[in-house]
Amino acid sequence: MPCNDDPYDMAILGNGVSAWACAHAARRAGLSVAVLERRPDPGPPVGEHLPPEGISALSALGLAGLLDTPAHRPSPAVLSLWGGPVPVRLDLLMRPGGRALHVDRAVLGTDLKARAIAAGAEAIALRGRPRHGGSPGRWTLQVKTPGGGRYIAAGLLVDATGRAAALAQAMGAGVERHDTLTGIAAFLEDTPCTDGALLMESLADGWCYAAPLARDRLVAVFLTDAANLPRGQAARQAFAADRLRQSRLIAPRMAGGPAPDSRLRTVPAWSQITGPSLGPGWIAIGDAAMAFDPLASAGLTKALLDVRETVDAITDGRAEAFHTLARRRAARYAAYRRELAETYGRERRYHPARFWQARRAARAGQGGRAGTARQPVWG
Ligand SMILES: Cc1cc2nc3c(=O)[nH]c(=O)nc-3n(C[C@H](O)[C@H](O)[C@H](O)COP(=O)(O)OP(=O)(O)OC[C@H]3O[C@@H](n4cnc5c(N)ncnc54)[C@H](O)[C@@H]3O)c2cc1C
Repeated sequence: MPCNDDPYDMAILGNGVSAWACAHAARRAGLSVAVLERRPDPGPPVGEHLPPEGISALSALGLAGLLDTPAHRPSPAVLSLWGGPVPVRLDLLMRPGGRALHVDRAVLGTDLKARAIAAGAEAIALRGRPRHGGSPGRWTLQVKTPGGGRYIAAGLLVDATGRAAALAQAMGAGVERHDTLTGIAAFLEDTPCTDGALLMESLADGWCYAAPLARDRLVAVFLTDAANLPRGQAARQAFAADRLRQSRLIAPRMAGGPAPDSRLRTVPAWSQITGPSLGPGWIAIGDAAMAFDPLASAGLTKALLDVRETVDAITDGRAEAFHTLARRRAARYAAYRRELAETYGRERRYHPARFWQARRAARAGQGGRAGTARQPVWG
């Protein structure tokens, strides 16, 4: 198997927003980067709402122009039915930055990748899981590629594999899940609407949201605990369609469109934290470091902030920079969990229901066991 003679400064495992944003930022910092992208990829993830804070985070990475395409649809507001029978409209134009979007995740991913490649990152298609060997600062990855296989040498390994946290776990880290929230997502065509507001609504055994996308598409998602989901694709489809039809905000938007069909996808949506999320010669980023409940609409923003802070720590290189990053991550997760518990706690109408009881029982400050690396990351 051939091996690159000059090791990459960084090899990133993953193919999502975190992977490509990190590759782009690392190239801008002068590091050589290889991105190992899984083939075939399961397709773009769900999660379209990019609030003003997310757009600012993208700008801070030098990627503002990326959003200037009609593929992404302006989102002027969030309309929610939560905690009471009257819909509440939150105008996003009033928030700092004032602009929010419903992004087409496939387009965002493709455009981010193109920027990273143009900046000099190398994409390497990957089959199966790579095996790592060597030692921090002098890693070798044995990878299977569509053309055979090769060894890749890299100083730093970056885990951008989302909730799988595949590399972090291979390094001995643990993933702590705090619930079993699971989404069933339906992508609907031919659902025109003039109002681009994000719709959110609580139901007796979960909650749902819908985001109107460009080209008259709509994504509608019902979320509940995994134990509530029936077995089998057909039963699950009927279950999700039934819950979305119960929604006062979303059902009327789906009326003209087809019922949720075979493109319906089951997606993990629970809160989790990886501990530690960094160690000697490796670091997890984005959802691989911590993943949020979609209620926060903050996964992309958090991933982009994390990418910036991570690349800053890497270019700083001192152990203290990584300790600070680990502390910041733990604080971010604790703050997120507090806010999440408060938001779920505002819904009191479905009192005996297990879904809501479990969330009300979640107490502030359960930040998981985000560990701090004992040695510097940069070997
Ligand atoms: C239902 C739902 C709704 C959401 N809504 C929003 C929203 O409105 N706004 C928002 O900001 N966020 C939202 N999110 C969260 C957001 O989608 C994620 O935070 C974001 O996708 C994280 O990006 P990532 O690159 O870290 O991980 P991912 O997007 O999960 O990417 C991980 C990549 O790693 C690849 N991979 C996995 N395992 C391996 C492996 N072993 N080897 C190689 N590659 C691997 C995967 O194929 C994938 O390409 C939502 C999430 C869900 C589930």
